[in-house]
Amino acid sequence: MSKEKIFANVDKHRSLILDAERYIWAHPETGYREWQTHKYLADNFRALGYTLVEAGNIPGFYTDIDTGREGPTVLILGEMDSLIVFDHPECNKDTGAVHSCGHHAQSAALLGIAAALKEEGALDEMCGKIRLCAVPAEEGIEIEYRKELKKAGTIRCITGKGEIIRRGWLDGVDIAFMVHTSGSTKKNYIYCRAGSNGCIVKTVTYKGVSSHAGGSPWAGVNALYAANVGMTAINALRETFRDTDQIRVHPIITAGGAVVNAIPETVKLESYVRGATVEAIERENKKVNRAIAASAAALGARVVIDDELAYAPLNNDPGMFELLKKVAIETVGEECTSFSDIRGSGCTDMGDISMIVPSIHPYAGGATGTSHGANYYITDPETACVTCAKFQIMYLEALLKNGAEKGKKIIAEFKPTFATVKDYIDFADNLSVERDTVSYLDDGSISIRYC
Ligand SMILES: [Zn+2]
Ligand SMILES: [Zn+2]
Repeated sequence: MSKEKIFANVDKHRSLILDAERYIWAHPETGYREWQTHKYLADNFRALGYTLVEAGNIPGFYTDIDTGREGPTVLILGEMDSLIVFDHPECNKDTGAVHSCGHHAQSAALLGIAAALKEEGALDEMCGKIRLCAVPAEEGIEIEYRKELKKAGTIRCITGKGEIIRRGWLDGVDIAFMVHTSGSTKKNYIYCRAGSNGCIVKTVTYKGVSSHAGGSPWAGVNALYAANVGMTAINALRETFRDTDQIRVHPIITAGGAVVNAIPETVKLESYVRGATVEAIERENKKVNRAIAASAAALGARVVIDDELAYAPLNNDPGMFELLKKVAIETVGEECTSFSDIRGSGCTDMGDISMIVPSIHPYAGGATGTSHGANYYITDPETACVTCAKFQIMYLEALLKNGAEKGKKIIAEFKPTFATVKDYIDFADNLSVERDTVSYLDDGSISIRYC
C-alpha cells in the first residue's frame, strides 16, 4: 500500500487517537493497576470490531488479525502504565501517578494502528498475522505491591512483558516491535539505538536487634550501620565492573529505622543491578549480594536478599534495525531520523521479548522535559501518536509485504539468547530468588549464602 494511503488511513482516526492520548494522560495508573486505561482501550478496540483475549486478573489484552495468507506473526505492543512523580503539576494528587514516560501515547498509537488496519484494503499487501497487545507494568516500581501480587499467585513476574510471556502471549509470535516516546522537540522524529541494559531488581531487608540508643546500645545490633557497610562495600566493587558491561548499581534506603532513640532493628534497601548482558548481570549481582551478606555478618545482623530479573537486556535485532532505518527515512524523511549503535544504560522489559524473538524498540518524538521527571509532557501528540502509528504500519507492511520476504529473512537470521520461552523463564526464575543469607553456627563460624 502506498505511503499516502497508509497515512490517510491513520489520519481518518486522528481524533480517536488524540482523544485517547488526552483521556489516558488524565487517568494515569501505575503497573498492574491500569484498569481504567484497559477499559478505555478495550471498549474502543471492541467498537472497531475486534475480539479480545484479556488477561482477566490483571489489566492487558491482545487481539489477532489474520491476513488470510500464510506468513509470520508480528506482535506490536503498547504500554499502559504510568510512573509516580508527586512533584509533577498534572499528577494524580492522591496517587502521584503521571505519565512522565509517555506510555499513554503508545496506547493511543496502538489504538490508531487498530483503527487504520480496519480500513478497506489495509491488509491487502501483507501476509501472516498481526497481534496487537496492550501490555501493563513496564516501569519497575511499587515492588512491594507487586511482590504481594506474586505471593498471591496473581502474577509470576513483577514486570508486564515477563508476565505476558509466562501467560503464553508470545507463543506463535515470530517478530515483535513497539515504539516508545522520546524527549525530542523535532517534528515527526524517529530514533533508534542498538539496545539497552537489563537488570535485577533487588529488595534487601537487614534484621538487627533494637535496644535503647542511649541507655543500652551494646544490647542492640544496628541494622542501619550494617546497611551502610553494605553500601560502602558495593561502592568498593565499582572499579571491578567492566566498562563494556555497563553495570549500574544504585541502592536506596526505603526504611532506615523506626524511632531515633532506638537502635534500628529493620532497615530496607532497594536496588537495581543493571548490565548489558544476562551473563554480566548474573556475575556482578553475585558480587553485590556477597557484599551485602558480608556486611550483615560484620555487624552480627541477618539480611534477606530478594532478587528478581525484572528486565532482560534489550538487543535490537540488526536485521530489523536495517529495515527500520529505511522505513523511518521513508516515513518522516532523513532529517527527522537519528540512529545510534550505542546501547543505552536504562532498561525496558521489551528486552525480555528480544531474548526470544527478533525485536526492536525505537523511539518517536513529541515529548519535552525529563523522562520520569516533573516537567515531562507530550507537547506534540501528532508526532508522539499519529506519526508514530503511521510509522508502525509502514514498518509492519515492510516486514510482511511480498510474501514477508524481509520478515522471513530476519527470522531466519535471528540468533536468540534463549532458544525457547521455557529456557528464558527457567533462567529468569533461577535468578529470582529470596535468600536469608547469613547463619551463625554454634561452633563460632558464620555461613554466608549469597548465590
Ligand atoms: Zn520509563
Ligand atoms: Zn517508558
